Amino acid sequence: MTAPAPGAAAPEARAIVDAVRRATGLERIRALHEPVFAGREWEYLKDCLETTLVSSVGPYVDRFEAMLAEITGTRRAVATVNGTAALHICLLLAGVRAGDEVLIPSFTFVATANAVAYCGAVPHLVEVEESRLGIDAMALRAYLEGAAEMSQGECRNRATGRRIRALMPMHTFGHPADLEALAALSADFGLVLIEDAAEALGTRLQGRHVGNTGLLSALSFNGNKIVTTGGGGAILTNDEDLGKRAKHITTTAKTPHPWAFRHDQIGFNYRMPNLNAALGCAQLERLPQFLACKRALARAYGEAFAGMPFLRFVEEPADARSNYWLNAIRLDGAHAALRDATLELAAAEGLAMRPAWTPMHKLPMYADCPRMGLSVTESLESRILNLPSGAALGHGP
Ligand SMILES: *Cc1c(COP(=O)(O)O)cnc(C)c1O
Repeated sequence: MTAPAPGAAAPEARAIVDAVRRATGLERIRALHEPVFAGREWEYLKDCLETTLVSSVGPYVDRFEAMLAEITGTRRAVATVNGTAALHICLLLAGVRAGDEVLIPSFTFVATANAVAYCGAVPHLVEVEESRLGIDAMALRAYLEGAAEMSQGECRNRATGRRIRALMPMHTFGHPADLEALAALSADFGLVLIEDAAEALGTRLQGRHVGNTGLLSALSFNGNKIVTTGGGGAILTNDEDLGKRAKHITTTAKTPHPWAFRHDQIGFNYRMPNLNAALGCAQLERLPQFLACKRALARAYGEAFAGMPFLRFVEEPADARSNYWLNAIRLDGAHAALRDATLELAAAEGLAMRPAWTPMHKLPMYADCPRMGLSVTESLESRILNLPSGAALGHGP
């Protein structure tokens, strides 16, 4: 296929590109999500170099973890090398073992499924809701009533005979999944609830920060997330004992001793270096400003896209205050072809726009995973466009 000449683009694609320019006030935008370093980043990084505490020991890690616990309202936050590692440890601590199945949305970033696979477990792919983009609790309940059987409090997949151990919703683009319904479902089917909150730092649902409903939750601080440590992640939990175990297992399971190398189980070298945590402390200090800028940008997009009957701007659910990490529009079904036409036009004119992820069931390594009907997932994939969303593009009140 050859791209149409820019002048030949559909008028609706032109209208979308123009709306992005109107909302941001910029002609060209290089990346979907660029970080902003306007706080004390230089100062804290310089401090790491001057004290030589750049690696696995240092005060910024403790400070970063304390700040995260405070912001999210959880009892314990454990910083890790990235969000994928945090998810991996969440699953292990939740008791996910080789041969188990874990329910995850097919509509997610690949890390969600990979973390399940690292445990030797099998992702069991489930459907999402059209408007909030998270796991559809009602559809999942109806599906499990047929596909699963309960015995002695354990949930099994009738078709595979495998134990379904956990349910891991993901808060898509920073919009929270319906945690209340998903927690009720988890209780009814004997599943451990774990939140992939990688995209949702700063997001509140019914007044409460996400990451508090699951037994364990994971955050990411990759370069494109709302707050970055270069690469990084964190495990959140309200269970004191699990918090201690998370710290222990991510720091090579070393038992404290002034000099001896004693390790009491197979641990992981997943701890976040002090250098990254220093960047993270400076970034977290600015989280309120980032959230305000992102809310302002979302409002500007909402206005710029109003009056376009062939699409909807993705807005926060009525019971939530989203962080608007990644802005998106959903084209209506009859206009799905506009997705690629718009991507081509935007790329030709130097404006960063992206499609949604390829759903997990369309990736070769997860194509044979058990799954429920995924028609909403497939439809959404064909109709979603992500918009430039860096905090610098929004102008706070
Ligand atoms: C970013 C992200 C992760 C973790 O990514 P890392 O790059 O490993 O920090 C996990 N799940 C989702 C949904 C994400 O968006």
